[in-house]
Amino acid sequence: MRPTGKLHIGHLVGALENWVALQNDYENYHLIADYHALTTNLETAELYQNSIDMLIDWLAAGIDPQKSPVFRQSQIKEHTELFLIFSMLITTARLERNPTLKDQVRDLNIENVIYGHLGYPVLQSADILLYKGDVVPVGEDQVPHIEITREIARRFNQQYGDVFPEPEAKLTKFARLPGLDGNAKMSKSAGNTLLLSESPDDIKSKLKKAVTDPQKIRKGDPGRPEVCLVYTYHQKFNPAETSEISSACKSGLLGCVDCKMKAAAKISEYLAPFREKRSYYEDNLNEVKDILKSGEEIAGKIANQTINEVREVMKLG
Ligand code: AMP
Repeated sequence: MRPTGKLHIGHLVGALENWVALQNDYENYHLIADYHALTTNLETAELYQNSIDMLIDWLAAGIDPQKSPVFRQSQIKEHTELFLIFSMLITTARLERNPTLKDQVRDLNIENVIYGHLGYPVLQSADILLYKGDVVPVGEDQVPHIEITREIARRFNQQYGDVFPEPEAKLTKFARLPGLDGNAKMSKSAGNTLLLSESPDDIKSKLKKAVTDPQKIRKGDPGRPEVCLVYTYHQKFNPAETSEISSACKSGLLGCVDCKMKAAAKISEYLAPFREKRSYYEDNLNEVKDILKSGEEIAGKIANQTINEVREVMKLG
């Protein structure tokens, strides 16, 4: 994940919850993609603070650093070395076809794409393959990048010998959570987020303004839950009541304001333990910094082993 500040519920349901669930069955590695953050924001003054803020969100969501090392991309030089080698194994035409890049260029109104942004999935391939990752729990927007990673791994293995696995993306049921403004994806750049650390009052007031079915203007009008983002939130945070809410919305019995307040209450309840753990880590920042330091030591060793293997098969020693 890129350290772009505090995480939103899209990050949680699209990726982070999956990370937590998988840590018992897999050897997990969690990367703070601080170099990747530069693709859309060259300002570095807040990069470290944003990294710590994001790490606190991870820990509060249940990432156990004993099982899953956490580390910054910029601190492990092997990422940049493997990125350079991988950049020889993929064409610019292939990278220009990347649909995630096209979406970002459109959504962020980017006029001139920088080289590093074009190469984003190549650096990501290095991030994944340095740890020989075979399963990558991500949201839907990242699936094209995992496909590029597979292609690079295949190309490397054909050229130099079998070193890398061909990783697969692992998606959740909510691989693209919509934003509060009705946009198909919740994202910081769209300004349509609900943060994990939001207070119950803020959750209520943000939900109040959420966009619902445009055809349901007042209570009594029949609604269409299938096009309503608040209904999607109910499906995730209030699964026990979804069928009741769906029929009450369709019949017009349930108005949007009541429906939104129900969702706000359930989301607040869901995030309560998270908020509590977050405030513990905010008060114990040294513990967070130590966690990062020891994660970087562990990850550094693995990355070094892999790069040595790469250099050996490429006869670069
Ligand atoms: P990023 O901030 O782009 O580095 O994203 C971090 C992870 O969160 C990636 O796996 C994304 O696919 C996932 N993610 C971000 N926003 C959403 C969303 N609205 N719905 C589902 N997953 C998301």
